[in-house]
Amino acid sequence: MKVEEIFLPRLKRLQARLAELTLDGVLISSLENVRYLSGFTGSSGVLVLGQEAGHFLTDSRYTTQAEQEVAGLEITVFKDELEGIKDIIKKMGLVRVGFEPEGVSYGRHSALSSSLAKLKLVPLKEELGSLRIIKEKAEIDCIKQAIAIASNSFEQIRGQVKPGVRERDIALEMEYLMRKQGSGPISFELIVASGWRSALPHGVASEKKIEPGEMVILDFGASFKGYFSDETHSAVVPPVSDRHRRVYNVVKEAHDLAVAAVRPGARFIDIDQAARGHIERAGYGQFFGHGLGHGLGLAVHEPPAIAPNREGEAEEGMVFTIEPGIYIPGWAGVRLEDVVLVTADGCTVLTDTAKELWIV
Ligand code: ZN
Ligand code: ZN
Repeated sequence: MKVEEIFLPRLKRLQARLAELTLDGVLISSLENVRYLSGFTGSSGVLVLGQEAGHFLTDSRYTTQAEQEVAGLEITVFKDELEGIKDIIKKMGLVRVGFEPEGVSYGRHSALSSSLAKLKLVPLKEELGSLRIIKEKAEIDCIKQAIAIASNSFEQIRGQVKPGVRERDIALEMEYLMRKQGSGPISFELIVASGWRSALPHGVASEKKIEPGEMVILDFGASFKGYFSDETHSAVVPPVSDRHRRVYNVVKEAHDLAVAAVRPGARFIDIDQAARGHIERAGYGQFFGHGLGHGLGLAVHEPPAIAPNREGEAEEGMVFTIEPGIYIPGWAGVRLEDVVLVTADGCTVLTDTAKELWIV
């Protein structure tokens, strides 16, 4: 597929919405959206789009890369980013310009407003938040590839989850294996959390050694062409107690109930409740404090959020995680995380490594 065929339709889709939003243009500065709309993969890039025309701005380090990657936009190389943006907005004669509230600092917002008297900056939250929410086939293929890299690496590393091994050594080896198999920058600092540390929902790998009778949470992700994977397994190191089995089973059942609830039209709060309600009924409600899942793609965490009180419903083509957990302070935690793709009549679990009780 030619780059124009991937990125131009996305640009046109956004530009077509500008009139409805009564905007002359939009300033795109989050790197994920810049990449999504232009194909540019570098770390300095801004888009200024009008209803028809569009400009890509970068600094001189990226001139060649921009020429190779960016299609359908005029490329401008700036000395100073703010000045560059101002010049283009003036040149294009834009007045009402949308922007990403999270992508523009207060300082930049003030500088733009004060130096361009006519400019009216309009924050776009939902309008841009949902820009990437439905994945195209090519994007799903990239996510699948990232998952394949992560799963292969996990299969190679899982034998090392045993007493006496440092959490950090497992995380480092896992990262090495994923990078060696073609992963781009990994999704996040890998979580390898054993024993009492497994009760920390985000316990990044430490110097602690794994010991008998502990739970171990491994949460990892690779990336491929900018698209991330995200998956969590929980292991029990013998001796296995009844409490281990009980807590694990409750999380697994909650996970399965939530996956079964995913279909087009299912409300996010109901998907969350399918898992949360089960954990509550089992008496562990107070030990599950985070949302059930999050969208992923060019960012590890992006819309939709699957959580209590989150509006919205699943649509075909969305990709998000299902990751219930129970974290009992001082004892242990269990989390199981899979990535699902919403299909016409349900969902497909993309992370296909089994989540049955894993005794090392
Ligand atoms: Zn994760
Ligand atoms: Zn996650």
